[in-house]
Amino acid sequence: MTYALAIHGGAGTILRSKMTPEKEAAYHAGLARALAAGQAVLDEGGAALDAVVAAVCALEDEPLFNAGRGAVYTSDGTQEMDAAVMEGATRRAGAVAGIFGPRNPVKAARAVMERTPHVLLIGEGALSVAREAELPFGDADYFHTDSRWDALQATLAMRAEGRETDDPARRHGTVGAVARDRDGHLAAATSTGGMTAKAPGRVGDTPIIGAGTFADDATCAVSGTGHGEIFTRWTAAAEVAARMRHRGESLEQAASHVVMQDLAPNDGSGGLIAVDAAGRIAMPFNCEGMYRGCVTDGADIRTFIYR
Ligand code: ASP
Repeated sequence: MTYALAIHGGAGTILRSKMTPEKEAAYHAGLARALAAGQAVLDEGGAALDAVVAAVCALEDEPLFNAGRGAVYTSDGTQEMDAAVMEGATRRAGAVAGIFGPRNPVKAARAVMERTPHVLLIGEGALSVAREAELPFGDADYFHTDSRWDALQATLAMRAEGRETDDPARRHGTVGAVARDRDGHLAAATSTGGMTAKAPGRVGDTPIIGAGTFADDATCAVSGTGHGEIFTRWTAAAEVAARMRHRGESLEQAASHVVMQDLAPNDGSGGLIAVDAAGRIAMPFNCEGMYRGCVTDGADIRTFIYR
């Protein structure tokens, strides 16, 4: 049995016209580090769940991506993070929304799954589960990046003029991972700071099981990135699995239908990564780029940004 791992660092990529060779190299290196972290787990016969959490932690620790350290700011200048994990064998899931504190929100989501009878926790309840799990916390300095702060100021200035930013890198981003382990089990994990200048209290698709995150051994594991409100209204991640289950579509067909036919015409810019029970990977997106990469048993790590 072989393993497969795919990750994304968000569909809100820097426009190609604004990309520099140095930045591009830094993004590829960040993606490769996250793939290596997940691959190390799978190589040793570890569980898909452990692999996706390891990969997402590496992406959360990397300030280039909008999750954990480097998360975007709300319109009030605060940071509110959402994350989820789901295990395909049992359909157990855990999620947190609107939290600030745990360095790795994905671990807080996992703690909700493993330490409570609930799926989604917010506020002080979510933070106390993270504290009980002895997860490391960070302060405002830890999470701050000048580039996200500047993006907020630019977005607020444009908004004051009645304009919305046309730069996806300024607007959003997310990180995620999906894996199939050597035992044939699937898992998905997603983590985000959400969208720049979002209203305080706004929750996107990331922690909503079936919208931005989903896993079921019988079909696929999915992690999405893009315009969260649309992913939520179209239940994007669950829809990929539903098309496979009910219509008998392949992973590639189902994933690309959801991204190109459901989301794209409805203002749902973005993409997703998905893996099926056989370890096949799909990574469709309907915008300029999506930071992404994959690795399978015995193959080299591959990372991509644009088409
Ligand atoms: N889906 C995320 C959200 O809406 C943002 C993104 O992936 O770009 O919170």
